[in-house]
Amino acid sequence: MGAKVIDGKAFAADVRARVAAHVARLKEEQGITPGLAVVLVGEDPASQVYVRNKHASTIEVGMASFEHRLSAETGEAELLALIDRLNGDPAVHGILVQLPLPGHLNSELVINRIDPAKDVDGFHISNVGLLGTGQKSMVPCTPLGCLMMLRDHHGKLAGLNAVVVGRSNIVGKPMAQLLLGDSCTVTIAHSRTKDLAEVCRRADILVAAVGRPEMITGDMVKSGATVIDVGINRIERDGKAKLVGDVHYDSAASVAGAITPVPGGVGPMTIACLLANTLTACCRANGLPEPEGLTA
Ligand code: NDP
Repeated sequence: MGAKVIDGKAFAADVRARVAAHVARLKEEQGITPGLAVVLVGEDPASQVYVRNKHASTIEVGMASFEHRLSAETGEAELLALIDRLNGDPAVHGILVQLPLPGHLNSELVINRIDPAKDVDGFHISNVGLLGTGQKSMVPCTPLGCLMMLRDHHGKLAGLNAVVVGRSNIVGKPMAQLLLGDSCTVTIAHSRTKDLAEVCRRADILVAAVGRPEMITGDMVKSGATVIDVGINRIERDGKAKLVGDVHYDSAASVAGAITPVPGGVGPMTIACLLANTLTACCRANGLPEPEGLTA
């Protein structure tokens, strides 16, 4: 098994440390504390865990954390009014509405109500358009984390063949845009792609964001390729609950040059990049230089 293991946990710790150092300087030199507001509607257990982790990480890097927990029955008008208040609050630099929202709420309408400059998830239609046209935007956290790890591993990405498996709005498409922005030759594969294995074998960089446990196997990986596994799948094996990615780790690692594990790969980078985006939003809001190495 020759692949280098890309340690997302250590990388994320380093990103958080850099964010914390920048936050400390902002507080000391400018008297500014970056603030992140997280809105949770309902009691979805997984969302509650995510929101708790986001709160703890925000506090840990010295930012202000504003949590808004609303009941599952909250109406659209009430939620939109809260977003309007947060948009107008100068202490709030980033706003995140935890998805999925309960079924009676229109997620698109809600997300597009967030001030694009505070949209630290990068899901607002303006940010999607800015990213797509190669302009400065807020970039979705998971693909940003993948990009940071790829840049760190490869240095320059220009000219490399990248294959992104998955075309979701939150991972696959923005990932492809970011790789294109770094001058990779990008292919996006999806459920209708013909001969996926052959397409994947062309990749110097293979990003799997599919949501199917261990679907990408070693025979689909080019020798020496870098494999980024975005998938988080809970399965049961030998009677035990287990977390696995979209990549079959052992077979892929025996062929790849570098690979992210699950857990401990892309996952920890997502929250780290949320903090990085909040810091970036705060710097932009105050006309200050953006943090280096923490944006796309
Ligand atoms: P979606 O379900 O929104 O998208 C999955 C994509 O995979 C679709 O584009 C789909 O194609 C494609 N796909 C499905 N089956 C196949 C197949 N057999 N062959 C090729 N392509 C296929 O998922 P997300 O993008 O939201 O998430 C992907 C994975 O990443 C999940 O495991 C999720 O849990 C994980 N994730 C991890 C995060 C992290 O922090 N690490 C953050 C976000 C997601 P089509 O469009 O044709 O249907």
